[in-house]
Amino acid sequence: MINLIRKPLKNREKSMTTERHRSTVRDLRRDNRSALLWALFFRQPCTRQELSDATGLSAASVSTAVRELIGEGIVTEAGPMESDGGRPRVLLRMNPGYGRVIGIDVGETRVSAEMFDLTMARLARADHLLNPRKHGVDLVVDRIASCLDLLLDDAGSEPATLIGVGIGVPGAIERDRNGQVLVHAQPYGWDAVPLERLLRDRLGHGPGLLIDNGAKAMGQAELWFGAERENSRARTSRASRPTVVCLVGSGVGASIVADDRAVAAEWGHTIILADGRPCRCGSRGCLEAYVGAEAILERYGLPVPDDDEEAALTALITASSARADEIREETATFLGIGIANLINLLNPDRVIIGGWAGLLLAERLMPTIREAARRHSLRNKFSGTTIERGTLGLDAVALGAATLPIERFFSGKT
Ligand SMILES: [Zn+2]
Repeated sequence: MINLIRKPLKNREKSMTTERHRSTVRDLRRDNRSALLWALFFRQPCTRQELSDATGLSAASVSTAVRELIGEGIVTEAGPMESDGGRPRVLLRMNPGYGRVIGIDVGETRVSAEMFDLTMARLARADHLLNPRKHGVDLVVDRIASCLDLLLDDAGSEPATLIGVGIGVPGAIERDRNGQVLVHAQPYGWDAVPLERLLRDRLGHGPGLLIDNGAKAMGQAELWFGAERENSRARTSRASRPTVVCLVGSGVGASIVADDRAVAAEWGHTIILADGRPCRCGSRGCLEAYVGAEAILERYGLPVPDDDEEAALTALITASSARADEIREETATFLGIGIANLINLLNPDRVIIGGWAGLLLAERLMPTIREAARRHSLRNKFSGTTIERGTLGLDAVALGAATLPIERFFSGKT
């Protein structure tokens, strides 16, 4: 009996060991390939030698993996590098013709979608204005699907050439037991909305959908393409202190970027005044109830328009009246206080103000914002922090959302 039992056990152990060995080799190949794709993406165009230096992989490993990637059409040769007399070296880059990614920003005033190739060149854009007070799930799903249809029709793309679709949404993201994304956006009245399933039902086909918080997506865009890139994967050094990316639109959020990762934070619902103005989240005195675009217009006494909140805020920012001056001064001060709280709490290296309303406010009111942040934060913390206007413009969330499928593709998890 003992022998009978032992024999199959031995065989099973042997086959498990072989399987483990195979999967280790597979993991290693996948890791090498992933490291090369990351290095090439941020350095392109570059040579095999530069990829070897950047990844620490041997010249032979780089050569093998690059041959595979060229064979699959993901990487392409971009011609010879200027030679100083030595052996000519060939430059490599991502193949723009390989496939496309789409990034979608579900904002409060519009749904914007942008399509990029693998070099992150923008190929097409589509957007739909939203009524800032109408964010029914069915309507938003319809707008997202419509943007996707427009982009895919426009570019003549088959879903097969689509690497994936990233979607940045307001609110918190969680996964249910089946791994499906649920969105909690209290100001929208979204309570555990199964957005991923609803979109799949609506779209009828399955482009890889990746849904995440919009502020977090914007933080990732800063990490990859903004000034924050200086500290990111493109370099070996890492920032020891975080960068905070503030997303100010109708709503207010933030993304804390540290150690090559962006994490969403509900900064807009931190309290700056006890028993202050009512907030859409149900609480009172939230930062969003003072510096969110809708709140600014309400404080000014303007009816919040159904169609173009962006134009209304632009008009207020440039209006010349004592009341407009007062509202602008107050808004900049509240925003500065919100930033002072971030500075005291997180000791960031940099605070970047973005989002459509944030960009407008920072363009006109930065001295007041900085002064309020200085007055309300600890001296030694403030002196080590810079406060800047975002450099990626209005498309930062869509761009950041497009990094989600790229990230998954490079990690070999598609
Ligand atoms: Zn709130």
